[in-house]
Amino acid sequence: MNTSNRTKVVIVGAGFGGLFATRCLRGADVDITLIDRHNYHLFQPLLYQVATAGLAPSDVAWPIRGIVRTQQNVTVVLGEVIGVDTDAREIITSDHRMRYDYLVLASGARHAYFGHEDWEPHAPGLKSIDDATAIRRRILMAFERAEMTFDPAERARLLNFVVVGAGPTGVELAGTIAELARRTLAADFRRIDSRSARIILVEAGPRVLPAFTEKLSTYAQRALDELGVEVMLGNAVTACNAHSVTIGGSEIPTSTVLWAAGVAASPASVWLRAESDRAGRVLVQADLSAPGHSDVFVIGDTAAVMDSAGDLVPGIAPAAKQQGRYVARVIRARVEGKLAPVAFRYRNLGKLATIGRKSAVIELPFLRLSGRLAWWLWGVAHIYFLIGVRSPITVASNWLWQYVTYARGARLITGESRVESSADKS
Ligand SMILES: Cc1cc2nc3c(=O)[nH]c(=O)nc-3n(C[C@H](O)[C@H](O)[C@H](O)COP(=O)(O)OP(=O)(O)OC[C@H]3O[C@@H](n4cnc5c(N)ncnc54)[C@H](O)[C@@H]3O)c2cc1C
Repeated sequence: MNTSNRTKVVIVGAGFGGLFATRCLRGADVDITLIDRHNYHLFQPLLYQVATAGLAPSDVAWPIRGIVRTQQNVTVVLGEVIGVDTDAREIITSDHRMRYDYLVLASGARHAYFGHEDWEPHAPGLKSIDDATAIRRRILMAFERAEMTFDPAERARLLNFVVVGAGPTGVELAGTIAELARRTLAADFRRIDSRSARIILVEAGPRVLPAFTEKLSTYAQRALDELGVEVMLGNAVTACNAHSVTIGGSEIPTSTVLWAAGVAASPASVWLRAESDRAGRVLVQADLSAPGHSDVFVIGDTAAVMDSAGDLVPGIAPAAKQQGRYVARVIRARVEGKLAPVAFRYRNLGKLATIGRKSAVIELPFLRLSGRLAWWLWGVAHIYFLIGVRSPITVASNWLWQYVTYARGARLITGESRVESSADKS
């Protein structure tokens, strides 16, 4: 633990926001403690590839200690933050307290079930490596169980895959599961035809990818149709259990429901007793500090930040990075007794989403693109973002191999190999 008299900066979360704040404080006259409950930084944009057996966990996550190894002013702590004592200027972890002069809360977000937390075991969301490998197990085990059963109704149930929420993650999951069923697994089974699987994408709103322009969302819907994904719009989930999901009054038997419908911020607002929006994001000041605490900054998915047009800055990686960079500049300026930049300004770098291995949609401030070219640009953009965290060559070569052969090198079932069958119903 640091014992020097230098300014102590504690950064909670080594996601995009926390890691960028840390890196931008390289060389600053401060001692940084970077705390995360995992020992890895996760590249969440490619997590759906792990969940659908396209990439291995080690392709999208890297040990935090390795990333900051050469940055001498950083100490990494593996720990779970459970509170903040703003009077004592200490953060509280499950086993000790730690003093700070400046605190950066970059603890991200988790799934939201809108008051139906009991659905979570039946409809897991995708946020961590554990979530992704559990989802991968669930999908692959459904095919295995379908191959084993002699009951046609049970086989049909096991081959129904329901994805809830048609934002980028839901669209990416549904499109990739469809390709897994129609192409990758097609020759692997003897008793079932994996191509007969139903992949259903459910969205309560009127269109898929609602954050994109109407034209791009129409394109995405068409691309999903071509992949054989059934899109159910204007329908919300009303019930969910281990055997079925109910959508708009009709019950769909299934063992695989995946939740991509909502996020809630980490409990930073509770720790700070600060005002938050409906998703639990802290309503921060223009300099990203928490109201009443000029020494505490909240960034990334945990913060509600407005752009210059008064719109909420989206919960995406570039926004978290920009905020991390900004608070590092503020802290550095204050430590050096210089004038700190006044207000955070969000630079919109655009949005991307992919639909299977052939299509993507890209919405940049001055350009909209869809189709195969967009897919390649999406791939290049993601590989580019990997640069600096780790060599992107492994990911790029895995992708290329997968693209050419439809092979799923990461098609391993790990953990407990069990999917509940209808026989477990009682
Ligand atoms: C499946 C998925 C796909 C996505 N796809 C895209 C995409 O294609 N493009 C894009 O721009 N964005 C995408 N996003 C959103 C993007 O990943 C987030 O906006 C971004 O990660 C936010 O960065 P952050 O630093 O706020 O939080 P995170 O990156 O989530 O990091 C939070 C960190 O805090 C740690 N942490 C949390 N709570 C605690 C605690 N109590 N104690 C200690 N540590 C804690 C976590 O372990 C984590 O490392 C996606 C998100 C998901 C889940």
